Amino acid sequence: MESKRNVLIVEDEKNIVDILRFNLQRAGYDTIEAYDGEDGLARAIADRPDLILLDVMLPKKNGFDVCRALRERNDNVPVIILTAREEEADKVLGLEIGADDYITKPFSMRELIARVGANIRRTAIAAPALPSAAAAAMPVSGDLSINTDSHQVFRGGTAIDLTQREYELLVFLASHPNKVYSRIDLMEQVWNYGYVGDDARTVDVAVRRLREKIEEDPANPVYILTRRGAGYLFSVTRP
Ligand code: CA
Repeated sequence: MESKRNVLIVEDEKNIVDILRFNLQRAGYDTIEAYDGEDGLARAIADRPDLILLDVMLPKKNGFDVCRALRERNDNVPVIILTAREEEADKVLGLEIGADDYITKPFSMRELIARVGANIRRTAIAAPALPSAAAAAMPVSGDLSINTDSHQVFRGGTAIDLTQREYELLVFLASHPNKVYSRIDLMEQVWNYGYVGDDARTVDVAVRRLREKIEEDPANPVYILTRRGAGYLFSVTRP
């Protein structure tokens, strides 16, 4: 039987932690809790959770610093930032420093559980970049190849470390080559959200981060192109 996925909750409000723990466990997840940023970072490193729910305003170390520290360690654990509704700027900053998603407080449990499910690491343990995984990867364009069994992306045979969401965005675009998708389409298809307010900014940030990882020159991308006013497409070029 597949072992349970572990969600790390980093939140200093005890009543929120209690509600999250209860609902996550009911949805079939194991939970780990931390009540300040330092402990949250330590737990993230030591316990290797499958996903982190990360509050922003925390004692000792704020949520952004925790997320940034994880990404600097090349830890691609999915991170969902918990923000207060009025902290609109937090959403964008959170995504720019490498969070995968955010949810605004007060949130519905149903929505939160859905977001956890959508973002959680699909493979329990990040597979090491085996030479066979690179060899089995399907070329998609140029020197870029994808192994959908191991969920790995390679450029010229070298594995590229992507978050689950970045991987899904790339696979979605690459499986519909040269077709333009609007940000709203991508929110629906890749994030599985109905379009809400300014959430499309999420797509721009994800595309930019993906380009930084897969493109030789992210300022002049050759794989993921922008069609101004229309959206994004995956361009297929011949090596
Ligand atoms: Ca807090």
